[in-house]
Amino acid sequence: MKELRPPRPDLDGLTPYDAKEPKAEVNLSANENPGNLPHEVVDKLAELLPEFAFNRYPDPMSGKLRQLIADANGLESGNVLVGNGGDELIFDLLLAWGGPGRKLLNMPPTFAMYEIDAAVTGTELVSIPRRPDFSVDEAAVLERLKAGDIDAVFVSHPNNPTGNLQHETFLIDVLNATDALVLVDEAYFEFSRHTMRPHMQRHHNLVILRTFSKAFSLAALRVGYLLAHEDVITELTKVRQPYSVDRFSQWVAAMVFRERVVFESQISDLIRQRDVIQHGLDQLSGVVVYPSEANFVLFRVEHAAAVWRDLLHGHGVLVRDLSRAPYLEDCLRVSVGSPEENARFLRAMEEILVARRKSGLLGTTNGESLNGHGGS
Ligand code: PMP
Repeated sequence: MKELRPPRPDLDGLTPYDAKEPKAEVNLSANENPGNLPHEVVDKLAELLPEFAFNRYPDPMSGKLRQLIADANGLESGNVLVGNGGDELIFDLLLAWGGPGRKLLNMPPTFAMYEIDAAVTGTELVSIPRRPDFSVDEAAVLERLKAGDIDAVFVSHPNNPTGNLQHETFLIDVLNATDALVLVDEAYFEFSRHTMRPHMQRHHNLVILRTFSKAFSLAALRVGYLLAHEDVITELTKVRQPYSVDRFSQWVAAMVFRERVVFESQISDLIRQRDVIQHGLDQLSGVVVYPSEANFVLFRVEHAAAVWRDLLHGHGVLVRDLSRAPYLEDCLRVSVGSPEENARFLRAMEEILVARRKSGLLGTTNGESLNGHGGS
């Protein structure tokens, strides 16, 4: 038998993205909504399901959903592109604006897919690391843009996993400083309630990403969308997979979007619960909490990987271990869950820290002394 011819040599340095997570009674690791779709929506879906045309291909451009999103944002349908989750749209953006010989400006630590997709598309990554408190090094970014060789800038706003928004004035400075495509990733917009949408008229290079996976409880179906100048959408339609958003997802997402006011109180509850988590963590000695505008909270704790294991194996609570990721030494990220789940997480944290301190596994370090790593 002949040896298999190797794939692209630059895949050598890549490891497959493994999103598989251990099972846990309480999963606070993926920034999902702890609540399923509201009953009103599920009942309506159930009533209409027998008529659903499973045998037909989907509308390649998700026409109905696209129009609903455009109307809600005061735009034309040509300014909207629906994708198989925000993830697909990020990939499409790099297929069109990245590629060999082209450069993406990134501000780590940030959403890991930016870097992964840059590698897969052969796009050169230009990284301007955030400061120790995770604010963007604005002067360094603006200085780097002056060379005029950057093709795309990606900013997560609020930033996953650190939770903070960027200054609006900085984002406007970026838009003014470059003709590169500027992606403002608003995956957590419904929790931050801040959007760059008003700046789209003046800045044709501004692209906004949103998702149904977080506030709208639809992570299972994979639906996200972009708002952009129609020329940007036209370019993206050249590289995208025509049937990537299936018919069922389009149908459910359109219904969810029409009914989106019913999510309002749930979103407000999650924002309140985020404050409960921030406050609760803040009370624990040895924990540094980073302020968040999203539905998750990043915190730093000594021996984070061990604390993560204690949370999972001793208390059945799964959070995201980021402690080995660059710039995130000793950091864990907890997603906002239901009030009961959040209380269980906070109780578990307290018990773990008390036990570790008693057994001499933790120093008597308090928040202040950890500030050298990252501030609060
Ligand atoms: N952007 C950011 C910043 C995210 O955190 C996520 C989800 N983790 C996405 C985009 C993509 O979300 P989805 O593919 O579920 O729409």
